[in-house]
Amino acid sequence: MIIDKVAGIIGWPVSHSLSPAMHNSSFLACGLEGWVYVPMPVPKYPYIRLKEAVLGLRALGFRGANVTVPYKETVLPYMDDVSESARAIGAVNTIAIDTALRLCGHNTDGQGFINDLRERKIITSSMNVLMLGAGGSARAIAYGLLEHGCRSLMILNRTKSKAEELVQHMRSLFSTTPLEAAALNINKLRELPRFDLIINCTSLGMSDSAEALPWDASLAFSKGQIVYDVIYKPAMTPLLHQAASDGAVAINGLGMLVHQGALSFSIWTGKDAPLAVMKKAVGF
Ligand code: NAP
Repeated sequence: MIIDKVAGIIGWPVSHSLSPAMHNSSFLACGLEGWVYVPMPVPKYPYIRLKEAVLGLRALGFRGANVTVPYKETVLPYMDDVSESARAIGAVNTIAIDTALRLCGHNTDGQGFINDLRERKIITSSMNVLMLGAGGSARAIAYGLLEHGCRSLMILNRTKSKAEELVQHMRSLFSTTPLEAAALNINKLRELPRFDLIINCTSLGMSDSAEALPWDASLAFSKGQIVYDVIYKPAMTPLLHQAASDGAVAINGLGMLVHQGALSFSIWTGKDAPLAVMKKAVGF
């Protein structure tokens, strides 16, 4: 069986995804002739045919695929093998298909986040970190942060039990870093001054509506703080607007998107990704 040169993205919806532009321009820039990256929408209604789609990659001779919302967790059972980080995070965002046609699940989101910080010369080892949200991106970023080191991590979530479950899970993997979970409310947010890095991993901010602030507008950031929003559309969420106007460093999720994609690119092609090309393709 000849392993093909096709990769793509599985999710619903995927028509808005920047990944096809990012990867196709990178294949061209690296002289990877014949390689192509395609959107692969797997609708949620009337039936989810995720299993057929994933196993179909093998039949169709794909080299790999990205997996996005809402299938990063549900795709796990269809993998023949799962990397240590994807298993710990409980989600797969990159599938690689080897010459024996085995499907291997990876997760590049957490490392992509860390690589973006590194490129910006932000070192987390001495930082007290506040994370808002406890969903898929929060799980990946918490793992990345704890693997690379931070002084402490507090996770706040609307559904408190999910934050507690995530902290309990991370504690079983990283026992030495102080971890705390609580409900996302004004009382906890008042502890803001003690944090160096604040990360929004909720989906609040994806629209421009006023209620899209995962925050309390009466609380002000300070100049030394870094506010990172994993959302990249819009480029400036209400949270980032507030952070910037308070004088904090405001960073959106485009860099994370590029770096997680760069890691996927290397997994499939065995080559270093052309970061400048990827950034240009997504309007970084
Ligand atoms: P997810 O697993 O669905 O988690 C969503 C999170 O948002 C949960 O913690 C949820 O809290 C919280 N939330 C949703 N609505 C809320 C509300 N009205 N008030 C307070 N909290 C609310 O999603 P995800 O995969 O983590 O993705 C989150 C965001 O990250 C998305 O915008 C996605 O596009 C972005 N993302 C970016 C990158 C990148 O490369 N930059 C990568 C992955 C994801 P509950 O638990 O209480 O429901």
